[in-house]
Amino acid sequence: MTVTVKISRQLFAQSFEQLRCCGAGRRECQALWVGPWSDPELITRMVHPTHSASAGGFQLDGAWLTHFWTELGEAGEGVRVQVHTHPGAAYHSATDDAFPILAVPGFLSLVIPRFATGDIGFDAAFLAQLDDAGRWSEVSIHDHLEII
Ligand SMILES: [Zn+2]
Repeated sequence: MTVTVKISRQLFAQSFEQLRCCGAGRRECQALWVGPWSDPELITRMVHPTHSASAGGFQLDGAWLTHFWTELGEAGEGVRVQVHTHPGAAYHSATDDAFPILAVPGFLSLVIPRFATGDIGFDAAFLAQLDDAGRWSEVSIHDHLEII
C-alpha cells in the first residue's frame, strides 16, 4: 500500500520554521503533520508538541500528549507523519525506531538533518515507514510525500 501524503508549501515551510526556531541550532525538535480521517492523504495542519529537548533527543510532555489524543479523536483527525530534526545526518536511530508517537502500519517518520538549518526541502532528509510487522524501513520521499 503506497499512500502519497500531500502537504501545502506553506505548511511545509511553517514546519521548517518551527523546527529551526525551537531548536535554535542546538536542540532537536518535533513537528506533527495532522489531517482528517476523511481524507487520509491530506495534511491540514502542523502541530508543535510540548516537549523537552537536547542536542541528542527530545521527549514529549505526557499531559500534553493525553490532551492531544483526545483533541484529535474529537476532531476526527490523525497524525500522518512525525517529523523531527537531528544534529547531523538524518537517519532513523534506535530510539526513533523504538518510540514512534504512533505505531500503525504505514506510519511515516521524516528526519531533517542539521536541526533544519539548511534549505527548506528534502535535501539529505530521511523518510522511514512502519511495516505490518512493526519494523521501520527507509522509503522514497518522492513516492510518499508531495508538496502541493
Ligand atoms: Zn520544538
